[in-house]
Amino acid sequence: MKKIKKLLVANRGEIALRIMRSAREMGIKTVAVYSEADRQALHVRFADEAICIGPPPSAQSYLVMEKIIAAAKQTGADAIHPGYGFLSENEDFAALVRKEGFIFIGPSPESIELMGSKLAAKAAVAKFNVPLVPGTSEPISDLAKAKKIATEIGYPILIKASAGGGGKGMRIVDAEPDFETQMDRAVSEAKSAFGDGSVFIEKYVTQPRHIEFQIFGDQHGNVVHLFERECSVQRRHQKVIEEAPSSVLTPALRKKMGEAAVNVAKAANYYNAGTVEFIVDENLNFYFLEMNTRLQVEHPVTEEITGLDLVKLQILIAEGEKLPFKQEDLKINGHAIEVRVYAEDPANNFLPDIGTLKTYIRPQGHGIRVDDGFEQGMAVPFYYDPMIAKMICHDSTRERAITKTIRAIDEYTITGLETTLSFCRFVLKHEAFTSGNFDTKFVEKYFKPELLRAQQDETEELLAALLATLPTEKVAQVAAIESTPVSNWKKNRT
Ligand code: ADP
Ligand code: ADP
Ligand code: MG
Repeated sequence: MKKIKKLLVANRGEIALRIMRSAREMGIKTVAVYSEADRQALHVRFADEAICIGPPPSAQSYLVMEKIIAAAKQTGADAIHPGYGFLSENEDFAALVRKEGFIFIGPSPESIELMGSKLAAKAAVAKFNVPLVPGTSEPISDLAKAKKIATEIGYPILIKASAGGGGKGMRIVDAEPDFETQMDRAVSEAKSAFGDGSVFIEKYVTQPRHIEFQIFGDQHGNVVHLFERECSVQRRHQKVIEEAPSSVLTPALRKKMGEAAVNVAKAANYYNAGTVEFIVDENLNFYFLEMNTRLQVEHPVTEEITGLDLVKLQILIAEGEKLPFKQEDLKINGHAIEVRVYAEDPANNFLPDIGTLKTYIRPQGHGIRVDDGFEQGMAVPFYYDPMIAKMICHDSTRERAITKTIRAIDEYTITGLETTLSFCRFVLKHEAFTSGNFDTKFVEKYFKPELLRAQQDETEELLAALLATLPTEKVAQVAAIESTPVSNWKKNRT
């Protein structure tokens, strides 16, 4: 058992801050690393020490293992937390950290390597009777054979990069004539994006829900799950709204999927925090998709419903402690929803909308948590993921959590760039979402940019109607307020 005294966080933005906050509460000193684009960043200001690790592109800074190790040596850190993205799922990095004598806050390099290959992961969990999406279990080398398998599985099928991640490296093939062209594209994309051209076939589940389980293991063989997160609201195969618990899981199905998730972890001799992702079809059959061997972006919804601090737990486990609870000690308390605030324009195909946060006012109040890495006046750098913040709302029921999230979105004021807040508000008000009857096709099925404009017009009409009922001096006051931005989805670019 080795107590960590100084922790280097090999990441940036909201997650670097989030990790350092927990470390500080544990009496652990913190070290930030930063690129030249992040000199003024909040994680740099928050840390006890900060080391510049190079130019803005992440390939020259946040992704350079040697620079991070050198920073850890220079500052006398004894542990490294990789956050998510960047080097967090790189087994070579985890191994190097260990070799150089530091504690890696995460699983073993072997577990990372196993789960980093979707194919190897599927092979390992199959032995534990975890249900898999029908598909090929080997990388495709023979086109004719692959085509035959695709026909057997039945179109549509999905071609996936074994080394893929972040929603990239996937191609849907609707019918056989498209097979070869899509296959060529998938292989070349996989090569250029992940340096590994291995692809495989999966049945394309047409109305899937993405439901994942948070698992936690210690280095003494104990594994539990911390319930599920529903992550079906996605654009470009990437999550925008997550909630816990899922409105479709019965206690019996939760138990069954939770046990499968724990088995996935056992198949990988897993310890520390991990996420087992499943897709669930319209008949509530579930299939293992992959395991993410790191802290997940959406981990706060789990924290809200369990009352646990997952980063503190990660640190304790890395120090060699046993899990401080058993499965039966864990309970779901209320409902939590996270909306991801990306600098993206929902009216323009969710393309990044990088710029300066001219106005940035966070929502406040009971049950609201904002994890971000920005302040008013700061620019969102175009080198990195354009996520500005995550807003997490917790309340006693799903209905109340939805109401609270909408209230908080309305209070969240961002000008200077477009964000996904307007889209999230649209989703939260949509009958498909409120009824719980939705899947990963939400955007394709229900979303059109015109609907955002309609929502905006409706608000303006309401405001006009309100103004008409007010005495003249009040109207002047409201007009003065209106000249400063009041509504988040009505962002002036002036
Ligand atoms: P989560 O499941 O935690 O929500 P995301 O898919 O949103 O994960 O990805 C989290 C971060 O990790 C993003 O910054 C994403 O770009 C990055 N990421 C995930 N997998 C990979 C990968 N294999 N290669 C590069 N970046 C990745
Ligand atoms: P990544 O490593 O990029 O996160 P995943 O395998 O987790 O890749 O898939 C990301 C998303 O793509 C899922 O959340 C789901 O929306 C969709 N997806 C993946 N596999 C399938 C499938 N077989 N059928 C339908 N949708 C899928
Ligand atoms: Mg995934």
